[in-house]
Amino acid sequence: MDIKELDKTYIANTYSRFPFVAVSGSGARVTGENGGTCIDLGSGIAVDAFGVCDPEWVAAVEAQLHKIQHFSNLFYTEPQAKLAELLCQRTGMHKVFFCNSGAEANECAIKAARKYSFDKYGAGRHDIVTLQQSFHGRTMATLAATGQDTLHPECFGPYPGGFLYAPANDFDALSALCGETVCAVMLELVQGEGGVNPLAKEYVQKVEDLCHEKDILLLIDEVQTGNGRTGSLYAWQQYHVEPDIMTTAKGLGGGLPLGACLFGEKTANTLIAGTHGSTFGGNPVCCAGALSILSRIDGKLLAEVREKGEYIQSELSGAPGVKSVTGLGLMLGIETEKDARSVAEICLARGVVVLTAKNKVRLLPPLNIAWEDLRQAIQILKGVIAE
Ligand SMILES: *Cc1c(COP(=O)(O)O)cnc(C)c1O
Repeated sequence: MDIKELDKTYIANTYSRFPFVAVSGSGARVTGENGGTCIDLGSGIAVDAFGVCDPEWVAAVEAQLHKIQHFSNLFYTEPQAKLAELLCQRTGMHKVFFCNSGAEANECAIKAARKYSFDKYGAGRHDIVTLQQSFHGRTMATLAATGQDTLHPECFGPYPGGFLYAPANDFDALSALCGETVCAVMLELVQGEGGVNPLAKEYVQKVEDLCHEKDILLLIDEVQTGNGRTGSLYAWQQYHVEPDIMTTAKGLGGGLPLGACLFGEKTANTLIAGTHGSTFGGNPVCCAGALSILSRIDGKLLAEVREKGEYIQSELSGAPGVKSVTGLGLMLGIETEKDARSVAEICLARGVVVLTAKNKVRLLPPLNIAWEDLRQAIQILKGVIAE
């Protein structure tokens, strides 16, 4: 049996996969099973931050593999401690909990927000306000946090309670929900899965003010927007707000599973021994890779991310077949006259990998994609959209 048939036979049918078997690659160039090479504008959904098999990342991971691959969070390991230090230095946050995925990072944030409020105010202040069209993960609690009815089919019910949903960018509606039962507001600053929609800066700043006023925690989900994706290390750094709790994952490990929940001053000591944990979280190999990635997301790289994002926007805004371009940095959504899925399928047949989000074509290229690869891929995409 070939790989596609094996997959169809033995893998649970949770994905409608594109017809491409990824075998190997280098940077933004990925080779399939038939030897054909694609230019990748998806980075495995913003995970391969520096593309495929980035040599410095490979070296960091390999060096750690020869030292120790795992020893449990009952003991100390160096890469985890150093990565936590670097994350705190680069964000001003105070403490880090490591896990393996975005959903787990958000689970940790939800638990910590409730405990912060419980410790200070007692029971009853447990609700978390999230936004419509948000996406926070696939576990039961993070699904419940996700403000999309289509992701709450009856067959999986009952869902955990304690989430209230506000329409994005509507401050009065959010404010009306922030009553005495609310302990936190959780936001993505650019809604990724919901269609690559950035929140308005003034709106987010007003939400922050409201949170401060009521001692409601501001939780920012940077699972997709984080680690340089939007042109700043974390998107909140260009929104001029400060989260009480921030989560990230996707690009952090450069391709290995790693999630993190970061705590600010208020919440730094909320979780204590025994209140949370993870067997694999902060695995030393994943953390060694992340150290290599994070230490190279510097001012120069971030300027390049913004410049490349502007290039894509200027090429595609107003181009034939394009209705709109939204997003920040190298996290962009393109609304096309053609169906987004068929744009992605035709692009793939012509050697360019793009993703979709809702009705949009979604671009999440490697942060360091070569200009030549980017230009070539965008011209192919532009042609497909125009046809
Ligand atoms: C992908 C994503 C998640 C879930 O991350 P997993 O690693 O798939 O659990 C959560 N929040 C946002 C904003 C995401 O984009």
